[in-house]
Amino acid sequence: MTTKRDGKIWIEGLDNLFDGKQGTTLDTLAAEENLKPIVPVMPDVWVLKMGGQSIMDRGAEAVNPILEELVQARKDGHEYILCTGGGTRARHAYAVALDLGLPTAMLAKVGASIPVQNARMLQMLLAQHGGIMVYAEDFEKLPLFMRMGVIPIMSGMPPFEFWEKPPKVGRIPANRTDAGVYLMAEFLAAKGVIYIKDEDGLYTDDPKKNPDAKLIEEITARELLDSGQDDIVVERAVLEYLDRANSMTEVRIINGMKRGQVTAALNGENVGSVIRKGR
Ligand code: ADP
Ligand code: MG
Repeated sequence: MTTKRDGKIWIEGLDNLFDGKQGTTLDTLAAEENLKPIVPVMPDVWVLKMGGQSIMDRGAEAVNPILEELVQARKDGHEYILCTGGGTRARHAYAVALDLGLPTAMLAKVGASIPVQNARMLQMLLAQHGGIMVYAEDFEKLPLFMRMGVIPIMSGMPPFEFWEKPPKVGRIPANRTDAGVYLMAEFLAAKGVIYIKDEDGLYTDDPKKNPDAKLIEEITARELLDSGQDDIVVERAVLEYLDRANSMTEVRIINGMKRGQVTAALNGENVGSVIRKGR
């Protein structure tokens, strides 16, 4: 039965948090004190990203030893979703699209194809060990895939595509594969996020350009954002999301070029760098 309350149409018996409130006050209504704890969706599953430029583009020499570790880890009972970055081909696609004057969302659409190519290659390499390609549409089947003991492989790119927001600076999509992987893990309340790249972790500067750069073993996202450091090892968007994380309150960056690092990280050892949500 509809009724009128404070001059607005309302449904009788529908007494909840948003009772008779306007849409514009919805955000403020969901204040911390009214919120229930978030249900962890897949808390035993790691979300891993195989770097695009940092690992995939180096070919077999870099990729194969990591796959060996991953196959063994799966046999040992570690559960993970393997995601891919884009790398140099994605950067080239962005450069061409920018030169053609195309908007951010078009770049996001074009850039989304490259990590899919990388994921497809990894899937075939892992086929005999149960590697299966997973698209965003299959996301809800992840629990089944985990139970079957297979290795789900996904593009790390978030499926925003034509709905990608314009970035604060420039026109390159702010949400690329580091951000996509993070957001997936935040939703799943995953066991953790591990970025497999080609440096020992986060440094005070890009170690490829500055030999004096120092390794930072642990830092909060807020400290890093406030430091004004320009060159970081993950997309800046990851820091912003970490800073307002509900579930995924840290990410780890490890060196996939060093044998044993992936296994160590999956075993919960303190390798590489950790960026945390500040308190
Ligand atoms: P991916 O291929 O996973 O997307 P990127 O190549 O985009 O990885 O990012 C990793 C690279 O970031 C490293 O190879 C390193 O050269 C560079 N980098 C820039 N700033 C830093 C920093 N502060 N600490 C570590 N690496 C950095
Ligand atoms: Mg990158």
